[in-house]
Amino acid sequence: MHVRINDIVEVMSGDDAGKTGKILKVIPKKQKAVVEGINYILKHVKPSQKNPQGGRVQKEAPMVVSNVLVVCPNKSCTKYNRGVRTRMKLLDNGNRVRACVKCGHEIIVTV
Ligand SMILES: [Zn+2]
Repeated sequence: MHVRINDIVEVMSGDDAGKTGKILKVIPKKQKAVVEGINYILKHVKPSQKNPQGGRVQKEAPMVVSNVLVVCPNKSCTKYNRGVRTRMKLLDNGNRVRACVKCGHEIIVTV
């Protein structure tokens, strides 16, 4: 998986192409992720305490992660705030982090 929870990603194809959102959940087994505000579906729900009327609620559906790219947070990057491919970068302390392939900026998830 090239995306993690709290990543900001850009959708590269489909109805939501060009939109950005935050990863809320990743489902590695299915290679899918739930992205905030993206891929809304209408879900039919039975009445419950939380939702006494029941009916239809809008909810983000998991989407295939191959359709999203992490955005580059570097303002001086040509791809600033756009989806970029990432590569692994080895830090001096031995940690490996993802970095933008365009500018080399490290993409670190802050929770
Ligand atoms: Zn960049």
